[in-house]
This record gives sequence, structure tokens and C-alpha cells, in this order.
Amino acid sequence: MLELCSDFNNDVLALLALADDEVLEWRLFDLPALPTWCSDRLALLGDAAHPLLPYAAQGGAQAIEDAVTLSVLLQKGTPPGDVPERLKLYFDARHERAEYVQQFARTQGAARPGQKEVPDDGAWHEFFKKIFSHDAWGHAEEVLKHSKS
Ligand SMILES: Cc1cc2nc3c(=O)[nH]c(=O)nc-3n(C[C@H](O)[C@H](O)[C@H](O)COP(=O)(O)OP(=O)(O)OC[C@H]3O[C@@H](n4cnc5c(N)ncnc54)[C@H](O)[C@@H]3O)c2cc1C
Repeated sequence: MLELCSDFNNDVLALLALADDEVLEWRLFDLPALPTWCSDRLALLGDAAHPLLPYAAQGGAQAIEDAVTLSVLLQKGTPPGDVPERLKLYFDARHERAEYVQQFARTQGAARPGQKEVPDDGAWHEFFKKIFSHDAWGHAEEVLKHSKS
């Protein structure tokens, strides 16, 4: 393990050296964006729909936004026959944003100091602006309203 982390900061190496032989290597897996998250009356959400690398700390947040969106689009009283169409709306409402976050985390994870792919402060600022200004509930309501007009 210490060999694997040989280019880590010395403080981190000192901490790792204190550990017994139970230090685990936790591999990260990536997945390209899926063409859809729904099939008829079934839908994926959270990591199953859009697994995120951990470099933007957004996996849980995006899963919650999926759940909020579904709760608006499948609100009490939704006719059972409307469910497949509502699930397609859920994908339409969510996939672009989730894929944007996936790609940002991917870029950040691939980055090493000195490489030009490293998002600069401006890119992080833009990212946080998009992340924290989003109203998932309001957006889902808009998507539903447009689908009826
Ligand atoms: C170390 C770490 C730090 C993180 N930090 C952040 C953070 O700061 N901010 C953030 O937003 N996100 C963070 N995340 C990401 C976040 O935890 C995940 O994106 C989020 O938990 C995904 O939620 P989910 O419900 O989609 O999947 P999960 O939380 O993985 O839930 C899936 C559940 O299904 C269960 N399951 C699997 N197979 C079966 C089966 N066959 N039958 C029944 N049950 C089954 C699993 O046991 C699990 O309980 C972090 C993740 C990790 C690993």
C-alpha cells in the first residue's frame, strides 16, 4: 500500500504507516452515460442511473434530486396508465444535469497538478453556481406543466 501511495504527501504517508495490514485499496469504476434510465414502468435513480466518481461530492445530492423529481412527476393521483410517460419526463428532466456533474467529476478526477485539464477556480465557481442554484422541485413542476400544454 505504501508503495502504491509513494507520491502522496508525507503527512498522509505517516498516517498510512500507522495502520496495520487492513489498509484497503478502494477501486473506482466509471460508466458512460446511459441512453435511458427507464423502461415502461421501471426506472433507475441515483448511482444506478448515473454513477459518479467521488471528486465532486455530488452522488448523494444527485440521487436526492432524482427522488425529488420523481415525487413531483408521480404525485398522488397520477393515473397508472401515465406512469411510463412520466418516467420518460423524469429522464428528460434529469439526465443532462446528472451527466454534466458526471463529466465534471471525471475531469477533476483525471486531473493532476500542473495539467491543463485541472479545472481552475473559475470552473469550480461555475460548477458550484449550477449545483447550488438549482431548484429540482420547481424544475420538475415546469417539465410537467410543459408536457401538458
Ligand atoms: C467515501 C464516499 C464519500 C461520499 N461523499 C459524498 C458527498 O460528500 N456528497 C454526496 O452527495 N455524495 C457522496 N458520496 C456518494 C453517495 O454516497 C452515493 O452517490 C449515494 O449513496 C448513492 O445513493 P443510491 O441510493 O443511488 O445508492 P446506494 O447508497 O449505494 O444504495 C443502494 C442500496 O441498495 C442496496 N442493494 C444493492 N443490491 C441489492 C439487492 N440486490 N437487493 C436489495 N438491496 C440491494 C445496497 O446495499 C445499498 O444499500 C460518497 C460516496 C462514498 C463511497
